[in-house]
Amino acid sequence: KIYYDSDADLNLLKDKTIVFLGFGNQGAAQAQNLRDAGIPNEKILVANRPDHYAEDAKSKGFTIENDFAKAAAVADIVFLLIPDQVQPRVFNGDFAPNLKADATIVVASGYNVFYKLLNFKPTQDVVMVAPRMIGSSVRSLYEKGKGFPCFVSVEQDGSSKALPTALALSRAIGATKAGAIASSAREETAMDLFAEQALWPNIIKLFTEAFSILQEAGCSDEALCYEMWMSKEPAEIFERAAEEGFITQLKHHSSVSQYGQLSGALKLDGTAIRAHFKDILYNQVLNGKFCEEFSKIEADLEKEGDENPLNQLYTKSGETELGQAEKRVRERLSQLL
Ligand code: NDP
Repeated sequence: KIYYDSDADLNLLKDKTIVFLGFGNQGAAQAQNLRDAGIPNEKILVANRPDHYAEDAKSKGFTIENDFAKAAAVADIVFLLIPDQVQPRVFNGDFAPNLKADATIVVASGYNVFYKLLNFKPTQDVVMVAPRMIGSSVRSLYEKGKGFPCFVSVEQDGSSKALPTALALSRAIGATKAGAIASSAREETAMDLFAEQALWPNIIKLFTEAFSILQEAGCSDEALCYEMWMSKEPAEIFERAAEEGFITQLKHHSSVSQYGQLSGALKLDGTAIRAHFKDILYNQVLNGKFCEEFSKIEADLEKEGDENPLNQLYTKSGETELGQAEKRVRERLSQLL
């Protein structure tokens, strides 16, 4: 099911006080789109700590509330647009206890809802309006009068009217112009985390191994880096895949390339990769194991240097042949410029 502007009634948002918790990538874009859709500025409140995000919101004419408990108390609708990993702490701590019993909570990602990390009252509506675009594109496409891909769902229907509210909000941020796709927090989380934990790790590994083997066969660092990604050929292939078709885009390649790619892919046995992918999906993503693991390290992400687990992973990943070679190539290039 795909919802368009004609499915949504902006009048449902009349007289509602709409709070944006967070004014970052998505918050800044969605708040401005919503105001441009005709929601009066005095009905919009940005809840943010007093720092540069708050300054940005102020410079764009929004009213700021630094006290989250006060912002929660006046909210009929709250857009939860702070990073996923801090949402449980911030929302459950200061926000949720002060929210009205009939408030609508809007999430832009399914993660915390699917894993039940947020405390909602059963009488509240919980909806997902999740753009498939970075915030700057959510804003720039709206300004050009265009839509953007977005998932929409009702996760809790306390009022029995959560869907019309979700569609009105989707329309207000510009998400129903090109069609908002009916989805769910489960589907969004499964696809997102599967891509992050199964698909892309394999792509990283494939590139790393390919690099290593070709290096062993005598290919130079420079030639490999340019051949594999620095020429931007993979970026161009994916752009054409989006525009023309995942397989059809191959027609832009030479006959040698087309034959090699198509016959090579068809010859591969997918049994092992299917088993590996299923293992990640069922035993890591859908059963909550990754969420549990991530919760344990989440607080350490704010640490500096080697104590930050992400920095440790970057250091380790930089030690591969690919990582070392790219470092050398980029250093040589910077000396030439
Ligand atoms: P950002 O990283 O841009 O969020 C920054 C905002 O969060 C700022 O207002 C910041 O204010 C606030 N914030 C950060 N830490 C805290 C904290 N500890 N306490 C209170 N406020 C905090 O987030 P995104 O816009 O990227 O993501 C928001 C939601 O949108 C997420 O659910 C994400 O999954 C979803 N989403 C994001 C997309 C993207 O392109 N980035 C795409 C689609 C969905 P300050 O630091 O001043 O407190």
